[in-house]
Amino acid sequence: MDHNATTPIRPEVLEAFLPYYQEKFANPSSVHAEGQETRVAMEAAREKVAALLGAKPREIVFTGCGTESDNMALRGVLAAEARTGPHIVTTATEHPAVIETCAYLETRGVEVTYVPVGRSGVIDPDDVAESIRDDTVLVSVMHGNNESGSVQPIAEIAKLVKEREKVFHTDAVQTAGKLPIDVEEMNIDLLALSGHKLNAPKGIGALYIREGLTMDALIHGGHQERNRRSGTENVAGIVALGRACELGMSHMEEESARLRRLRDRLQEGLQERIPEVEINGDPQRRLPGTLNMSFRAVGGEPLLINLDLAGVAVSTGSACASSNTDPSHVLQAMGVPKDLIEGSLRFSLGWGNTDEDVDRVVEVLPDIVARLRAVSGKWDAAKVKT
Ligand code: PLP
Repeated sequence: MDHNATTPIRPEVLEAFLPYYQEKFANPSSVHAEGQETRVAMEAAREKVAALLGAKPREIVFTGCGTESDNMALRGVLAAEARTGPHIVTTATEHPAVIETCAYLETRGVEVTYVPVGRSGVIDPDDVAESIRDDTVLVSVMHGNNESGSVQPIAEIAKLVKEREKVFHTDAVQTAGKLPIDVEEMNIDLLALSGHKLNAPKGIGALYIREGLTMDALIHGGHQERNRRSGTENVAGIVALGRACELGMSHMEEESARLRRLRDRLQEGLQERIPEVEINGDPQRRLPGTLNMSFRAVGGEPLLINLDLAGVAVSTGSACASSNTDPSHVLQAMGVPKDLIEGSLRFSLGWGNTDEDVDRVVEVLPDIVARLRAVSGKWDAAKVKT
């Protein structure tokens, strides 16, 4: 139940991937027949990624991961900006791939406004619009949050950004292949996605770049990817990403409904059996498989370890920050009290999770919480009305 960290490769995706990892290994820039064959496969995959987003194939650039796609979007647009001291608008709950890139850009003279979010983790589009200035170059707002699961109203935000003639980027790493996206209808100029979050392998990502957008490349070399991102392409990863996007698109509706049902069953099962729990994130505008829950008077870390011993994999926040003991910047920005941040767990369901998995968690977690609370100095059982 840690699919927001990464996902398993679907068998259909592995089947598409393997021939290009084994016998069909030619460089897609080679003129010979084998090279042409891998190029054709790569371009077919580009069409599939583009179809998932409502984009044109030539607007898709393959990268190494979601982090690279976010870096390319932000740094590429800023590098092409001639003015000194330009301004970016982003939010306080972005993934480190955006936040840390903004922090780096700040050391290079860029000014950044971090728009706050409400208690549900959802941003008010007017707050974004009010932060836009004449010298604003780019607005970057993530689609679905990896920790809270909250989904931002990006179409509304992007419309306001477009009216002000600015560039809009969204980190859609947690939503691509899971929620409907149409870059034309939603006025998106740049969109980052990552293969390993949608049942493709690690090491492959993509950036949608609206045709005609001016930006610099981060990686210079052999002019691959229309000179946007040099380096011999990861053909097997690209073919796998294409297949995963195709499957994501064709199963989106039924898989979202299935995950929503499982997630809600998990939430209700835990709420019924465990007193003093709180849900973090917007109950309505939420990724279908994500449940972020706080358990009063217990630490998230002991909960995670005990669940791990029971064979259940969850997370206390984003996997990228798991070596970092600082409280989650996302829950902090949402105004979740410190003790509830400390007792928070993220369940993220995905392809392969079943009703049995949900039953297992609902069976083992109440005892774990009760045991930990029994030895917790913070737990005042008398206060709890059950
Ligand atoms: N953006 C979001 C919202 C994510 O959840 C992640 C990964 O956790 C990333 C970006 C980074 O993606 P990648 O792991 O492919 O670099």
